[in-house]
Amino acid sequence: MSIVVPGSSPARRSPMIRVRMALPNDSGSSAGSPQALLRQALEAADPARAKDSLAGAAAARHALAQAQALANTSAAGQALAWLCAHLYRSGHLLELRQTVSPLLPLLDGDAHRAERRETLRLLSMAGSESGAYEAALDAANRLVSESAESGEPGLALTAAFALAACFDRMGDSWQAIRVMTDALGEHGERAPTRERMVALNAVCALSLGNWHRIGDTDTEAVRAAQLDRARLYGEQALALVATMEDPVYEVTIGGNLGEVLLHQGHLEPARVLLDRAHRKALDRGLAAYGWRIECSRGAWLLAQERHEEALAAMTALLAEMAARDGPLPVATEIRARDVAYRACRALGWFEAALAHFEVVERLERQRTVAQLRALSEIFVTRSEAHQAQRMAERRTDEARAEAVRQRLRAQKFAQSAEQDALTGLANRRHFERRMAELLEVATADPSAEARPLALALLDVDHFKSINDRFGHPAGDTVLVALAQLLRENMRGGDVLARLGGEEFVIVLPDTPADRAREVCERLRERVERHAWPGCPGLERVTASIGLAMAPPHDAAELMRRADQALYAAKGGGRNRLVVGG
Ligand code: GH3
Ligand code: MG
Ligand code: MG
Repeated sequence: MSIVVPGSSPARRSPMIRVRMALPNDSGSSAGSPQALLRQALEAADPARAKDSLAGAAAARHALAQAQALANTSAAGQALAWLCAHLYRSGHLLELRQTVSPLLPLLDGDAHRAERRETLRLLSMAGSESGAYEAALDAANRLVSESAESGEPGLALTAAFALAACFDRMGDSWQAIRVMTDALGEHGERAPTRERMVALNAVCALSLGNWHRIGDTDTEAVRAAQLDRARLYGEQALALVATMEDPVYEVTIGGNLGEVLLHQGHLEPARVLLDRAHRKALDRGLAAYGWRIECSRGAWLLAQERHEEALAAMTALLAEMAARDGPLPVATEIRARDVAYRACRALGWFEAALAHFEVVERLERQRTVAQLRALSEIFVTRSEAHQAQRMAERRTDEARAEAVRQRLRAQKFAQSAEQDALTGLANRRHFERRMAELLEVATADPSAEARPLALALLDVDHFKSINDRFGHPAGDTVLVALAQLLRENMRGGDVLARLGGEEFVIVLPDTPADRAREVCERLRERVERHAWPGCPGLERVTASIGLAMAPPHDAAELMRRADQALYAAKGGGRNRLVVGG
């Protein structure tokens, strides 16, 4: 309920990142040149020089635009980091998220490491403070990854802090405490003093917040454990902050620890710490911190049973806060009202007590509703993203399957385009393509003699009469069986195709004339001797073959000669081989 984590307040002045100034090269840039203007804009944007955050932000915006126009990425990165710092300080959290997030790639790479880390930290804080938990978690997780990669203990604590702030704002202070104590356990010893002090105070503040949140809903032991932890870490933080000059943390830690001691019943040391912190806050103009501590001082008065003083203090405080511009800091108002309510109740002023109580109830309800809505938004965003991803995956799977189907279809189509449907042999198209390839191979070496090649045409004798005697389907069966017979008697590199009807072509690459003649004669014999049990009554089928030899290595000429030879074989009585001249 009432955590004071300075790092999560826009008012905090963080030690400004200061790496190499990415100024454009001086030489050659005269006054009024784009480079000179960029340099001026960057100087005005430097948080060390800027009069206030609003002016600084304006200058940084200007410098960013100039740097981008000049494609000066290093100046653009610097300007972006400074813009982020100014926007955070001036409380423009929405603009910070909207402007800075999309430009984060400007800070990629080693050159902008420090600026990137600080910007991610501020982005995460801005997100968790304004209820944009998704963005806050993203930025925090990027910091965690960076710290895991770099192995720097200070960065590990900073990253854990950003993550813990998200969890805490989302309503899970247990998780936030776990993250911080784990990080301190692992990296605390080796971390720089400042990061350690900040982390120790965070555990103190988170534990205190948890104590408030638990209220009387848990056992006394659990509640006491929260205060014990808050004190343990708070005292270590106080010891560290004493070694450095940091008024904001002196005030914060003093306020937190003072409140812990108060709740534990150590009233005197509590008063000392609270008064000191309060004075310092006023001296330094840290009004918001002063208000928080004033609530604790009110609670201290209650513990002293000085109810009227407590009520007066809280009434004055509420009036002072209301007199300022802008909305009241919710957590502080809740605390002030809570003290006022308890004071009124103790005084028996039940109507006034009820009025304060109702405000506390309403504010807490509002906060719970806002948290639940933000959580549900994360859930929705995540599950929508998850579903979108699954849809995309499914679409990819389907696309892949469709591509495979298409390829198979294309293969099948290409195959069928070159295949004879009845016999399964290659068709004329395939023959023509393969013939051209084989002729090219045979004549590929211009320094050597072209390689021999034989082409034979085979035509079944009196096939028409087979159809006539046994029927067309029987004729088909004969063609299929004949195709099988021819195929079985070919070498792997030979080409066998059905040209149409009962006419087949055979190409024998690298085969001299006498060998080609042997092959064709053997084929003719096999056909003649083949038995046709599938065709009862059919005793014998014969074929005539016309053979032609390359050279010439010309498809048309070879076909013409083979056809002539085939014609001669038919004329010579059929069932014979004729070699063309
Ligand atoms: P030749 O000895 O002079 O070659 O006589 P042939 O009867 O074999 O020659 P012709 O060209 O006169 O007849 C071929 C027959 O082949 C005619 C045609 O009906 C038949 N035919 C063509 N394609 C097919 C087919 O796919 N299946 C069947 N069953 N018959 C076919
Ligand atoms: Mg024919
Ligand atoms: Mg025929």
